[in-house]
Amino acid sequence: LGQSNCIFCRVAAGDIEAKLVREDEDTVAFRDMNPQAPTHVLIIPRRHIPAVSALSAEDADIVGKLFLAAKDVAREAGVEAGGYRLVMNNGADAGQSVDHIHLHVLGGRHLGWPPG
Ligand code: AMP
Repeated sequence: LGQSNCIFCRVAAGDIEAKLVREDEDTVAFRDMNPQAPTHVLIIPRRHIPAVSALSAEDADIVGKLFLAAKDVAREAGVEAGGYRLVMNNGADAGQSVDHIHLHVLGGRHLGWPPG
């Protein structure tokens, strides 16, 4: 399940300190250490999946659970009414910097479009 050389596996295992906001059997949500908005939470699966491009059919459930967790995180953070953005970067051009999929929940300010 966890890979010792993966930062987010270590966060999920509790080996690296993070500000957890929510967790369940399959997912963990914690504050991004370099927040880009007043609310910036990352939601990860406990299962190590390196990238969207590495997803397989058996991951369909877990990806759905990331979005369900995101909805709850946004509501609990108070950004549901104002709106929020969910982002999952994949690969170099998108700026993916941690090779364990993570859904960004961004809110609490107006977010420009198109993204940078
Ligand atoms: P991405 O660029 O989409 O791969 O996003 C990786 C995000 O993880 C960045 O926004 C980082 O600030 C964040 N990050 C990296 N390490 C940690 C950590 N140990 N705790 C919290 N956030 C982290």
